Amino acid sequence: MELYSGHINRLIEELSALPGIGSKSAQRLAFHLINMPQDRVNKLAEAIIEAKANVKYCRECFTLTDKETCPVCANGKRNHGLIMVVENTRDMTAYERTGKYEGVYHVLHGAISPMLGIGPGDIKLKELMHRLEGEVEEVIIATNSSLEGETTAMYISKLIKPTGVKVTRIASGVPVGGDLEYIDEVTLLRALEGRVEL
Ligand code: ZN
Repeated sequence: MELYSGHINRLIEELSALPGIGSKSAQRLAFHLINMPQDRVNKLAEAIIEAKANVKYCRECFTLTDKETCPVCANGKRNHGLIMVVENTRDMTAYERTGKYEGVYHVLHGAISPMLGIGPGDIKLKELMHRLEGEVEEVIIATNSSLEGETTAMYISKLIKPTGVKVTRIASGVPVGGDLEYIDEVTLLRALEGRVEL
């Protein structure tokens, strides 16, 4: 016998497919949503649909943005010859929050993970190499210090070395396995300033 109605079951199923949401949280959220006023539910559903329909990749750095080019890439005052490579848009936001980084970014949308079957072709690596055909002085690799992040950093540095572009890696001090987005701004800046050439 089904514990809940078909509609609630379907909602729980969809919610529990989201990252970080277990079946208990999914149930809690489902009942919360059902109890919300109709107009708030409509607003939430609309926000999801609108975001999905309108958010796209920046044509330069591949972060998520509403326009063709994100505000960082569109800013002529930023140093476009300095590219910081990050795993995702949240990591980019973490560095932007420090307000001290003057270069631009490149968002990989993932990290190489042989265990999860994610190879170099599954992240925005080709796109990074394409950018290096322009005038680039330095690529700062700021992938996470997890196994996947380190694997990705090594792979990228080997790929870039023959091009003669300077490749650096942000200093450790960022806790191992730590997601950049959870690290405070002082630590992020220290990691950036203490970067070492690969
Ligand atoms: Zn951009």
